[in-house]
Amino acid sequence: MALALVLNSGSSSIKFQLVDPKKHATDEPFAVGLVEQIGEEEGTVTLTYDGEKHQVHAPIPDHMVGLDMAFKLMHDKGCGPEDLDITAVGHRVVHGGILFSQPEIITDEILGMVKDLIPLAPLHNPANISGIEVARQMLPDVPHVAVFDTGFFHSMPPAAALYAINAEVAATHGIRRYGFHGTSHEYVSQHVPEMLGKPAEMVNQITLHLGNGASATAIRGGKAVDTSMGMTPLAGLAMGTRSGDIDPGIVFHLHRSAGMSIDQIDHLLNRDSGVKGISGVNDFRQLSKLIEEDDQDAWLAYNVYIHQLRRYIGSYMFALGRVDAITFTAGVGENAANVREDALADLEYYGIKIDKDKNNRRDKGAREISTDDSQVKVFVIPTNEELAIARYAVTLAAANS
Ligand code: AMP
Repeated sequence: MALALVLNSGSSSIKFQLVDPKKHATDEPFAVGLVEQIGEEEGTVTLTYDGEKHQVHAPIPDHMVGLDMAFKLMHDKGCGPEDLDITAVGHRVVHGGILFSQPEIITDEILGMVKDLIPLAPLHNPANISGIEVARQMLPDVPHVAVFDTGFFHSMPPAAALYAINAEVAATHGIRRYGFHGTSHEYVSQHVPEMLGKPAEMVNQITLHLGNGASATAIRGGKAVDTSMGMTPLAGLAMGTRSGDIDPGIVFHLHRSAGMSIDQIDHLLNRDSGVKGISGVNDFRQLSKLIEEDDQDAWLAYNVYIHQLRRYIGSYMFALGRVDAITFTAGVGENAANVREDALADLEYYGIKIDKDKNNRRDKGAREISTDDSQVKVFVIPTNEELAIARYAVTLAAANS
């Protein structure tokens, strides 16, 4: 069986999966693992393979040691990359700037271009690059492919991509809307024409990726025309720990009047805001428990979250003019029926009607949750970014072999 190894390298972690690109979104991957606490006193490598979970604990000083430990553990448990038919390695790369609209086979030149983009994503791209460098050393004979979180949004028209700030400053510093979660928005949106029975170029749709991070995208004929995340993944919807859209003047106020440093404000808005900032918890399952106990802060956080979500759905309906489908995906979007119901409540006038029974049904697959007479169809489609990356990697590797 031909497999792809998919790597998602963060600053202190590496997520990895061995994926059969022919499988379905809801099938379990061949193997899945995580290297954690890289650079800390003690790190952990976890591997789930063949229904069993294995762990090793040891100091993991850098990504090279981390990936080496992961490969050894895989080898010990019978799924070592050198023992399997791995046809490509797919790397998630957060920022492709305006350089990359498509996945790319990684060459030294491409890697150099990804390095040039570090100023746009100083936290994410260096970690992605470490993962790529280490994996290329360890698997030198397999094609490596970079899949960019931003790539899907290259089609956005300038009116949606540009911010209304000084054009020279914007051009000099690369300030514009890039968008993120592109692999997920593209992946789920590609299923919609078939579910509607309409040609892809005729379909206008809104996709809502609601996980720990959250974003909304307006798509016309398969091309993104607007998205809620911006130059960074901090913008747009209220999220688990991220504020989403706020008045940029708040940053000046916190710095000048509250005496907070830029790093403290960065931490506040990225890690201690959103649902967590208001309720104390960022996980939607915990939030739901608190709401059941009638915790007022949890209610407030939920209401702010829903309000912001409706705001984006409404503005994208206007941007698209006609909407054929609205799709929910990712951890919250796939599982939280109350979020779906409240996000689209009382919109019959706009042709949107949720069927409560269908919406409340527990189901893992792609499904419709709107009434038969709803003009706008509402879907839940499970996302699978790793599978999408695996497919890109294998396809591109085959085309270049
Ligand atoms: P993701 O980033 O896609 O993994 O999504 C993570 C988010 O999905 C977290 O806030 C989880 O609480 C939420 N989530 C996962 N499973 C459920 C569930 N069964 N009900 C509600 N929220 C869930």
